[in-house]
Amino acid sequence: MQEGRIIKALSGFYYVESGDEVIQCRGRGVFRKRKVSPLVGDFVKFEAETKDEGYILEIMDRKNELIRPPIANIDQAIIVCSAVRPDFSTLLLDRFLVLVESKQIMPLIFITKMDLTSPEQKEAIENYKTGYEKIGYTVELLSSKDPDGKEYLHPHLTGKVSVVAGQSGVGKTSMLNALDSGLLLKTDAISESLGRGKHTTRHVELIDIAGGLIADTPGFSSLDFQELDAVELSDCFPEMDRLSADCKFRGCLHHKEPGCAVKEAVEEGDIFIHRYEHYLRFLEEIQTRKPRY
Ligand code: GDP
Ligand code: ZN
Repeated sequence: MQEGRIIKALSGFYYVESGDEVIQCRGRGVFRKRKVSPLVGDFVKFEAETKDEGYILEIMDRKNELIRPPIANIDQAIIVCSAVRPDFSTLLLDRFLVLVESKQIMPLIFITKMDLTSPEQKEAIENYKTGYEKIGYTVELLSSKDPDGKEYLHPHLTGKVSVVAGQSGVGKTSMLNALDSGLLLKTDAISESLGRGKHTTRHVELIDIAGGLIADTPGFSSLDFQELDAVELSDCFPEMDRLSADCKFRGCLHHKEPGCAVKEAVEEGDIFIHRYEHYLRFLEEIQTRKPRY
C-alpha cells in the first residue's frame, strides 16, 4: 500500500501524486460506506495494480474542505482584489476574509492592477495595506505586467496548497499566468469555469506553481454567510477575536451589549471603523437570514 495526494479528479478517476509519479486511481467501495468520497487535495492510501494504475483504499482525515470548488486540505486562500477596474472595495475584501477565516483557511491579500493607479489611488491602497497588515494579514501589491512580481510572490506559494478567490475581472488568471510563464491560462478562463458547472462535469485540478499547488478553479464564489452563526462572526475578525475574552458577557455580539471590549477598542481607534461597520452589516445579514428548514 502507498500514500499520496489526489491532484486531479476527472470522469471517475483520481490522479494521485506519490513521489514523482502520478497514478490514475479508481475509488473502491470501502469509503463509500462512510459516505465520504475522495476530493482533490485528499491524502489517500492506495494500492497500485500496475505502474500507473491503482485504486484508493482509504482517505486520511481532512483539516478542512470546500464545496465549491470541491477540494480538501487547503493551506491558504489568495484573495485577489484589484486596485482599480473594478475599484478596490474594503467591503468586498472583508466579506472574502470572513468567508475564508470561517473555513479555518489562512488568507493572503493580493491587490492587482497597481500599474493602472493614479498617485492618489496608489497612496490610498498603500494605506489600506498598512492597515490590514496591522490586523495581521499579509498584503502584496502587484501588477501582472510586472516581470519582477514572481520573485516576491513565489515564496508565498512554496510548499502550500492555495485556492484563489476574488470577483470576476480582478486579474486572477493574469496573476497565475504571471506567476508561471509556462502556464498560459486563457484570460477569463478561470471565471468561465465558474459558470460552466451545469453543462459539463466539474473538473478541478491542482497545478504546480513555484513548488506549491494552486487550484485552477476559484473558490468562495458564493458570498453569503450561509454556514456562519452570529456568535462565530467575530472569530473571523482577528482584531476583534483577540479582544472578545475581555467583554463583560460571554457570547457578546459586540453590538448593544454593555462592557464590550470591542466597542471600546473601536472608540479608542484601535479597531478600524470600517471593519467594525462591516462586522455589524454582516451580523445583520446573518441575523435576518431566513431560517433554513
Ligand atoms: P479574472 O476574471 O479575475 O481571472 O481576471 P483576468 O485575469 O481575466 O483579468 C481581467 C482583465 O484585467 C484582463 O483584461 C487583464 O488583462 C486585465 N489585468 C489583469 N491584471 C492586470 C494588471 O495587473 N494590470 C493591468 N493593467 N491589467 C490587468
Ligand atoms: Zn463585545
